[in-house]
Amino acid sequence: MDAVTRLKMLSSQMTFEPDLEQKPVCFSQKQQDQIFVHPAQMPNGQSIKLLKTLLSSTCERNCFYCPFRAGRDFRRATFQPEEFAKLFMQLHQSGLAEGVFLSSGIAAGGIRTQDKLLDTADILRNKLNFRGYLHLKVMPGSERAQVERAMLLADRVSVNLESPNTERLARLAPHKVFLEELLQPLKWADEIRRTENPNRAWKGRWPSTVTQFVAGGADESDLELLTTTAWLNKNVGLKRAYFSAFHPIRDTPLENKAAVDPLREHRLYQASFLLRDYGFDLEDLPFTGEGGLPLADDPKLASAQMTLVHTPVELNRADRHTLLRVPGIGPKGVEAILKARRTGKLRDLSRLRALGVNAIRAAPFILLDGKRPAQQIALF
Ligand code: SF4
Repeated sequence: MDAVTRLKMLSSQMTFEPDLEQKPVCFSQKQQDQIFVHPAQMPNGQSIKLLKTLLSSTCERNCFYCPFRAGRDFRRATFQPEEFAKLFMQLHQSGLAEGVFLSSGIAAGGIRTQDKLLDTADILRNKLNFRGYLHLKVMPGSERAQVERAMLLADRVSVNLESPNTERLARLAPHKVFLEELLQPLKWADEIRRTENPNRAWKGRWPSTVTQFVAGGADESDLELLTTTAWLNKNVGLKRAYFSAFHPIRDTPLENKAAVDPLREHRLYQASFLLRDYGFDLEDLPFTGEGGLPLADDPKLASAQMTLVHTPVELNRADRHTLLRVPGIGPKGVEAILKARRTGKLRDLSRLRALGVNAIRAAPFILLDGKRPAQQIALF
């Protein structure tokens, strides 16, 4: 099979990873007739054309949810590092792809597979002078030196935890070892970032690290997923957790398991941003008795309905932390309110709206100069 055909196959099959909010696809002939390059938002907010692909779709492991698991009957393809790097540079130079997300199925162990990914990255950066975005996957069981080498070459590295803890992972991927194979590389990445000179990295700064969970694949609760996410944010400097709602794949042990509502994925993202950017703690989130987030409302609104509706926030006095609890007020709105308060009292919703606040959303949960502004909603 020629290289372009293999890349068409691999990029069409690669739908399971971070940076895209896209569901797994069936591997139809039509889809294999093109190379998949996706719009993807970079950490700095810029959107680029990203090629997401595997170096190889051959895998010796058999994770229960995965389309690439060993023994599953579909057409597989493999690249050697140099041939992939050269083909990618042709795409890049023709303007078809600005960046690449590179992962792989595992063959001859995680260490050997990681070496191939690293060799590919090394050729791209040091032989072919690629200066664009590179996201490298760290394979389960990689060594510390390999994590470091990945961080020297990439803009982002990721280790997929898949599940929030050892027990849950055993139900999804019994041959992966949560602590030693998956969590340890994330710890090393954090240690390298904290202790080693970033000037050695290709851009003079260490790449960020992210992970992904298969939400609902092991019947874990949202509380379990977000407990681990909060721990990772705090203890290994995780930039972002991705949640991919479980979706059954034909010819896998979980093919008859029901798909998870994609709205759950959305709520998990919202809650993880509250933990990361809004100063929420786990106990501030509106978990049900079973540890789930309500699907009907976003978690910030649900939390406010349980608390702030009875104890509204006086916007003229509240501190930054409290202001961030109010639905309709984000980090930029908080800054605008704090600045506006220096020049006078906030007394009506139209003023809030002028500050960029979603005033209607905020109204049930606030006081303006001691008064509830609900009656002013009619003005809008
Ligand atoms: S190791 Fe990765 S590619 Fe292989 S079966 Fe598991 S999730 Fe799929």
